[in-house]
Amino acid sequence: MADSVLIIDDSEAVRERIIKTLEPLDLFARFYQAEDGLEGFKKLLAAPVDIILCDLEMPRMDGFKFLGMLKTRPEVADTPVIILTGNEDRELKLKGLEQGACDFLTKPFDAEELVARMKVHLKIKHLQDDLKRTNELLLELSNTDHLTGLFNRRYLIEALDKELQRSRRKDSMLAMIMLDLDHFKRINDTYGHIQGDVVLQKVALQLQKELRSYDIAARYGGEEFVAVLPDTNLKEAYMVADRIRLSIQGMHLAGSLSCERITASMGIAAFPSPHYDEIDGLLRAADEALYRAKEQGRNCLVVNDHESIVSFS
Ligand code: GH3
Ligand code: MG
Ligand code: MG
Ligand code: MG
Repeated sequence: MADSVLIIDDSEAVRERIIKTLEPLDLFARFYQAEDGLEGFKKLLAAPVDIILCDLEMPRMDGFKFLGMLKTRPEVADTPVIILTGNEDRELKLKGLEQGACDFLTKPFDAEELVARMKVHLKIKHLQDDLKRTNELLLELSNTDHLTGLFNRRYLIEALDKELQRSRRKDSMLAMIMLDLDHFKRINDTYGHIQGDVVLQKVALQLQKELRSYDIAARYGGEEFVAVLPDTNLKEAYMVADRIRLSIQGMHLAGSLSCERITASMGIAAFPSPHYDEIDGLLRAADEALYRAKEQGRNCLVVNDHESIVSFS
């Protein structure tokens, strides 16, 4: 067992008795002790544990205050706390449970009962940890494009909404690059779909390489990608897009694809604009510019600067 426990009680004798009870059971790898809520809280932040036994009446910071502090720190807020109470006062126990404790034990405690209750709460804690991990994984999967590992369209729309609100609040610009691979159908037709997939994965890598950590790169459709660049104006977005264009054009492909040169066309638009103030408008403006880039011969960039559409190659 790699679990750890924190015992908070102002009585050293009580703490020692608990440790003596638990130590031979192979239930915990680490034991931490504190003589009041404040010391316990500091130790917990330094080394999170799997379960806490906490006295109610203590100098400096009592058990209730400790429970209150616990809630303020999300990283430890879910740690199960069993309160230890020296008196039979029903009200105190109820108050402790209301404040977030998962259970209580009355001192002097019965060793077998202490162990049985700890096992139950450790089991619940482990199930909750598993559930949390599964939920995190599911969330990641639901936001990710399985082929490229980039964000998917669903996540993009969600994130764009947040970025647009942020941009409004901060009065900053938000740029978008919409990218579509040129004549990609030919790659699939010539080398097969699997080789086509390899190209898409490589393009995704190049795209990520050229972006900052807080930019958002998503696969928008089959061979279409979108990059969202917070705090970026059209001129800056243009420079980023051109770097991306050059790095895709310079990609070295292996095997049968080694003599192929992949290129992409891009449309660039930004928020705010006098013509739109929602996501749809921004996407449409970038798409319109992309369409022009295709019309102008591909492997080029077109900026939709609201007044005119400017192209660069
Ligand atoms: P254009 O320069 O006008 O964009 O030409 P294009 O051939 O790239 O455009 P078109 O829309 O005609 O073809 C897109 C191709 O992308 C067709 C489709 O087979 C391919 N594609 C879409 N999704 C995937 C995918 O997941 N894997 C692979 N390998 N190919 C895909
Ligand atoms: Mg006490
Ligand atoms: Mg396309
Ligand atoms: Mg294409």
